[in-house]
Amino acid sequence: MAGRQHLYVPGPTNIPTAIMNAMHVDMEDHRSPVFPKLFKPLLTDLKKIFRTETGHAFIFPATGTAGWEIALTNTLNPGDKVLIYRFGQFSHLWAEMAKRLGFDVIIIERPWGEGIPVDDLQNRLREDRNHEIKAVLATHNETATGVTSDIGAVRTAMDAARHPAMLFVDGVSSIASLDFRMDEWGIDGAISGSQKGFMLPAGAALVAFSEKALKACETSTSRRYFLDLRDQLASNKDGYTPYTPSIPMLYGLRKSLDLLLEEGLENVYARHHRLAEGTRRAIAAWGLKLCAQPGFESDTVSAVMVPEDKDARDVISTAFNKYNISLGGGLSEVAGKVFRIGHMGDLNDVSLLGVIAGVEMALLDNGFAIQPGSGVAAAIEYYRTTA
Ligand SMILES: *Cc1c(COP(=O)(O)O)cnc(C)c1O
Repeated sequence: MAGRQHLYVPGPTNIPTAIMNAMHVDMEDHRSPVFPKLFKPLLTDLKKIFRTETGHAFIFPATGTAGWEIALTNTLNPGDKVLIYRFGQFSHLWAEMAKRLGFDVIIIERPWGEGIPVDDLQNRLREDRNHEIKAVLATHNETATGVTSDIGAVRTAMDAARHPAMLFVDGVSSIASLDFRMDEWGIDGAISGSQKGFMLPAGAALVAFSEKALKACETSTSRRYFLDLRDQLASNKDGYTPYTPSIPMLYGLRKSLDLLLEEGLENVYARHHRLAEGTRRAIAAWGLKLCAQPGFESDTVSAVMVPEDKDARDVISTAFNKYNISLGGGLSEVAGKVFRIGHMGDLNDVSLLGVIAGVEMALLDNGFAIQPGSGVAAAIEYYRTTA
């Protein structure tokens, strides 16, 4: 079919042409005397995106999953207790990783669609009188269910319990899109990846650690080599990397940071909120519900529930085969029950109207009892009348 394949999965996201052009470069020597001129400012500017002045930013040739592993293995000792709430595929995988790496993982189950219950967290930390829990693992934006948790409130709960555990936050689908404040929220490890809010290809784990986490790194006995922050620190100090970096990725990241900082983070957050809100109006107009419970709705991805007699996979497959639209599928527990619309990264009103119209056609094709044009009409009205 002529025309483009339209990408609306919540990662990888669409790459702006300016970033693609910036990545189209000759290879160069990463040990040259000029390489630090590229590399050092990347670390400085990354800190602005994480909103940390006291932390350290790092760039690993890896993905977000490695970011979890970097946090765990650099700061904890084998057998250390960590606490995680599981309410979606990504919090599930992080918990599984922590188990496999030999940590003592306290997993608290929550219904998929909910986020971190901060009162429960405060109680559990209070009950942990001997401070055996060494880290709280928080999934800021659960991409599988379209749920955003309140990390500021997580910090408040930890402080109220006077608990010294470190706070590690999976911000893979929130950082560079949703309000994120590493210093203000007392985050010890912030984890992201290149292919979501940063609008780059997958292939860079972008992370930042607090002084407290880096102190723990000096004595942690967990085994690590490729992911050792100490090697990064030693090389990064002079503007180099311990092993070969992806040169196009670094030039792409340069452009991505320029675009984000030029727009201003507050504007980036507001843009995501607005595009998400128009999408939610369309979903409501179809009479469909979000997987996210009220108050947890994500501004980077909407997971839409289908009625019990329908299979969300049919909607996704019609959208892909007939309308050239890639939607996100339901992962594990919600497979067949939800389809996901990513509204993260390089998108605007008309790109969202495109996916809303395409989904509407796919819903009608699959016998959903919706009013033709209802979702599009609701979104048009919202986008047209809000700045
Ligand atoms: C995408 C994603 C990950 C995994 O990142 P990879 O880059 O695929 O390793 C982890 N956590 C969340 C919340 C994500 O959205």
